[in-house]
Amino acid sequence: MKKYHALEEIQELIASKELSLPDLLEYYFSRIETEKHLNAFNEVFFYSAREQAKLVQEKMEKGTAGKLAGMVIGLKDNISYLGHKVTASSKMLENFVSPYSATVVERLLKEDAVIIGRLNCDEFAMGGSNETSYYGPVKNAADPLRVAGGSSGGSAVAVQADLCLAALGTDTGGSVRQPAAFCGCIGLKPTYGRISRYGVIAYASSFDQVGTLTSSVSDAALLLEVLAGSDEHDSTVSTKQVPAYTEALKEQLKPQRIAVLKETLENEAVDPAVKAAILDAIEAFKQQGHTVDYVSFDLLDYLVPAYYVLTAAEASSNLSRYDGVHYGHRNTEAKNLNELYKLSRAEGFGEEVKRRILLGTFVLSAGYYDAYYQKAQKVRMLIRQKMETLLESYDVVLTPVAPTAAFKIGENIQDALVMYMADIFTVLASLTGIPAIAIPLGNNKEGLPLSLQLMTKHFEEAALLSLAESFLKKG
Ligand code: GLN
Repeated sequence: MKKYHALEEIQELIASKELSLPDLLEYYFSRIETEKHLNAFNEVFFYSAREQAKLVQEKMEKGTAGKLAGMVIGLKDNISYLGHKVTASSKMLENFVSPYSATVVERLLKEDAVIIGRLNCDEFAMGGSNETSYYGPVKNAADPLRVAGGSSGGSAVAVQADLCLAALGTDTGGSVRQPAAFCGCIGLKPTYGRISRYGVIAYASSFDQVGTLTSSVSDAALLLEVLAGSDEHDSTVSTKQVPAYTEALKEQLKPQRIAVLKETLENEAVDPAVKAAILDAIEAFKQQGHTVDYVSFDLLDYLVPAYYVLTAAEASSNLSRYDGVHYGHRNTEAKNLNELYKLSRAEGFGEEVKRRILLGTFVLSAGYYDAYYQKAQKVRMLIRQKMETLLESYDVVLTPVAPTAAFKIGENIQDALVMYMADIFTVLASLTGIPAIAIPLGNNKEGLPLSLQLMTKHFEEAALLSLAESFLKKG
């Protein structure tokens, strides 16, 4: 079987009886087995996926199937699916079974997607290389000595290596876009509040957003159309009407005013090959009739500090529920309640998660709250205002996704600061809540994928998708 890039292709083949959904599912199972060394899956849902594929095939034959019929999709292992395990790739939740499904899962199933399994990720989505996972790193299929990116590393590699058609990830500070960039996929982080977070294990609640990893823009548009929209279980979800993203893709795109953030390309951490690929892309955008200006963004140095102060603070609060009593791993030798908490948390969490809990508790503590937490909140507001002003004059903002292509496993993980600084370009959209997309730009000399990031105004995903589509089609 060949690699399919878009659901449309699959649906046509199933309609003409050249392909059946159960056969397609078995193909993906065999690919997962062949590519086991990539460590993308924490678990394959053989039984429920086979049942669902059979059911959907019947519906397709009867003409009663939903929009996602034929789509085999993986879930990042921090998204709950009733009756299935969900671990956030942490020892803390090793044996936890979801008592209900996330809203996104319900919406996938309602439209007849087949959920193939849960995908490896950084522990509690904290990381940018998938190396903090309790289940070990995910390997990049372009070079297994290199990282997949993170935290949705399994989701990116599953799509890259043809282990399923599409995957859901979560993006708090770049966790959909950066692994997509490292693996040559399309990674969409919608506007904060566009998609429900109900049933998604929380990391930093004012940043967390579900996103998609796909091989085609049309699948990203289709998934967003299905997943977006209000939800009585999550009050932070917007009640704004959900546009028909797939229809919008077919419309002629008017010339866009694109702003390139000058300091991002001039940043010394940016690899020359990344910069060269982006400069080529800028030329291509111009040739396609768009205007491109280089504009200054003088708050670049404040992005990473503000992001890490705020997300650590929120994480320390969100993760307090894992105490061995309410949830999670429980130590069996503790002699009193305090010891039970201490030992359970010490054993259940990995090093990076502990670092963030400590950092977050510190910035929220009485003596330091104003100096760190509150200051970071003010900085977030400034950044947001600056981006909003910029987006009054421009339709789209363009930057790299990451300073480099995928780095080697073990290369950066010992140095937390090096890891954090690599998030410099993705956290901008996270701090401001605007939508952003990573799109592939081909490979560097070593065959590693390169990528660029486009951002736009809140709730203007349709414009982002159209620009991405027209660029990739002509490019
Ligand atoms: N690398 C970032 C972090 O560790 C982003 C993670 C994410 O988006 N979940 O916080």
